[in-house]
Amino acid sequence: MKRVSLFITLVLVFSLFAFGGILDTIKARGYLVMGTNATFPPFESFNTQNEVVGFDVDIGKAIAAKLGVTLRVVDFAFDGLIPALQADKFDIILAGMTITEERKKVVLFSDPYFDAGQVIVVRKGYKHFTDVAELANEKVAVQMGTTGDLMATEVAGIVLTRFPHFTEALMELALRRVNAVVIDSSTADAYVDFNPNLEVGSPVLSAESYGAAIKKGNEELLDFVNQVLKELKTSPYEAMLEAWF
Ligand code: GLN
Repeated sequence: MKRVSLFITLVLVFSLFAFGGILDTIKARGYLVMGTNATFPPFESFNTQNEVVGFDVDIGKAIAAKLGVTLRVVDFAFDGLIPALQADKFDIILAGMTITEERKKVVLFSDPYFDAGQVIVVRKGYKHFTDVAELANEKVAVQMGTTGDLMATEVAGIVLTRFPHFTEALMELALRRVNAVVIDSSTADAYVDFNPNLEVGSPVLSAESYGAAIKKGNEELLDFVNQVLKELKTSPYEAMLEAWF
């Protein structure tokens, strides 16, 4: 009897190591891997030292710090991020990724951490638009696989070119090969700040929210990320109220 229970104990201890949760795996590894597409300022872009910096990177760092590990950032084409997450190339996607029903079928999304929407960027002095449908018959560039791509794809008669990176789509606009780019509002503002020849040529055309994407099955990491997001969103004063009352 004793032998049997010793055996069972050993099996249990062993399986604890063999099937340790995702958080234990990350802690043992010593770093959290974040997948992103670094052509999306101010959420992620390369600085002059060739490091990826931005709002999402800071969120990634906060999650890593809470886990007691460092953060590694992997730069990927946007439309390759979800397949790479599924293939365990990273633990988490932080890429200004909009929470959509389609994406929810294949990944887990954290609670929303930023409200966003699409706008149309044009060369300064080109027409202004009030609705995405007005892009019919226009030459337009988007970043492949984005919600801007999905939105533009639905416009009948649009002449659409899809690029792996926003930098290429905006270059195409500057070179007059297209007349508009559909892109997230905050990122549009960031690019327009650096390009005096471009401007935002529409109001915000959609209501979207960004979430961190995590592989299905890693609910433990999802809960942890939601906890960190909650702490980040709560002001120190609110945290004090919550702690004492
Ligand atoms: N928010 C957009 C999307 O999720 C674009 C994100 C991005 O290009 N990084 O599709």
